[in-house]
Amino acid sequence: MCAENNQNWRTEEEAIALASSGGSTGNRQEARDAVASAFRVELGHAMEPGAKVMSADRELRYCLELQRDRIARKNICFTEEFDPGKAPVRSAANNVRSWQDGHYETSWSVGYINHKKTAERDGMKTFKRKDPQSICETIVDVRDGEDVSGDTYCCPNCGAVATIRELQEGCSQCGTSFRMTELYPKVGNYFFVPDPGVSTDPIWKTMIRYGLYSLPVTIPLFSPMILLDQSSTSSLLSLVSPEKWTVPSLSRVIAYIIAMIIMSPIIGYFVWFLSIFFAGFKTLGKETPAALSVGSSRKRFASQMAKISPAYTFETFSSKITTLFRILVFSDSRESLPFNAVKEIGTDFDNVVDCTFHGWMSCKKIKVENNSVYVTGDVFVDTTRDLGDRLKVRSEVYQITAARRTDVPFSTNFSIAKIQCPSCGASFNSFKSKNCPYCGKECEPPKEDWVISDVKNVRKKYLFKRVFWIVVVIAILALSVITTLHSIQTGIR
Ligand SMILES: [Zn+2]
Ligand SMILES: [Zn+2]
Repeated sequence: MCAENNQNWRTEEEAIALASSGGSTGNRQEARDAVASAFRVELGHAMEPGAKVMSADRELRYCLELQRDRIARKNICFTEEFDPGKAPVRSAANNVRSWQDGHYETSWSVGYINHKKTAERDGMKTFKRKDPQSICETIVDVRDGEDVSGDTYCCPNCGAVATIRELQEGCSQCGTSFRMTELYPKVGNYFFVPDPGVSTDPIWKTMIRYGLYSLPVTIPLFSPMILLDQSSTSSLLSLVSPEKWTVPSLSRVIAYIIAMIIMSPIIGYFVWFLSIFFAGFKTLGKETPAALSVGSSRKRFASQMAKISPAYTFETFSSKITTLFRILVFSDSRESLPFNAVKEIGTDFDNVVDCTFHGWMSCKKIKVENNSVYVTGDVFVDTTRDLGDRLKVRSEVYQITAARRTDVPFSTNFSIAKIQCPSCGASFNSFKSKNCPYCGKECEPPKEDWVISDVKNVRKKYLFKRVFWIVVVIAILALSVITTLHSIQTGIR
């Protein structure tokens, strides 16, 4: 079902140009592909000062800005690199899966990257990660929207003429902000999946690297080979009898070290193989509870929401809620966020400098009450927290309840309006804050949007499940080893 990747652009710059032109080629699939490709480039620069990720929708764009501001305030020098390698193993695939609802078509695009991250600060242990990963993007598009991004609009405040797409971040002449329908297609969410196959290094390089890394362990480990008195019979027992050890000559020690270095690629191969095995084992323990919990969510959400509001597939919904949650995490003025109705959040999120979604969100409960539908789901994330002297990565699960009015009809027809404070008349981005920055007056947020009404950390609940699955896997492995040994023994007899 993998769509043919017939890209009409050759460079990433051309993809960004096409994506930022709003995909006015008339071909929506091409516009979606361009947005996916542009996002992978823009995301790599998102933490640089002043960057605006225009291939992302306004929520995700704002979320990345907030994260950048937090990192800057914590004085962390953060660099991120998405390296597709000199000879990419696989080229990106667009539209690998897609879902349609009453208004949107949501699809996944997958790219393959070597993801390098470093974070530095005086007095802090340098944080370094290099992971071969797949990056999965959720591309949201309207099914039958008119493309107005290239239409011109006259700023009602200063009279400057600009295209609609140029006004997404406000009038460049006078700073007036507009409330407008999102110019789809846009990237609504993204996540990374560990993918050892992405590594662009040839195997011999990996073998040598792992071999050299292991030398501090392997040199002492194999040292009995030269420590042992050559005349003694080489039995296992002589290893534990130090009286049979001799002090080897310098030339023998040098010859031994050289031999170990020459042998290291072979040792490296085994170490590398083991590391992949254990990485897979770790992922299994980490992802199994999430996968089981998500399993039936898509169906449950679809069947129950169809009766209430057919305008959402689970993908569109979970992409939106995850991004709103991340805005909550990175915001320093949560009480003024228009979508935030959580009574008590506390300071749990204040030291988070990175929060990556796992690609899992499960739907637990849907209920309708007082003209609103409440959806409760668990979101699986990896948070990186600033502990002062180091950064710490941890897998966490948050239970989120989101609400939306059921009596407000849904529309994707394009609209644009100047945002004006009813009290002092100033224009400000009411999507980022419901309070006017000039006079402080609270403006009522739009009724048709989702609101986050509760957030709870439910990590402990899943910790137990994770331990349970690790025990189950170890038990199965142990049992199979015992059975094999037993059958070999009976075979010998
Ligand atoms: Zn203007
Ligand atoms: Zn005001």
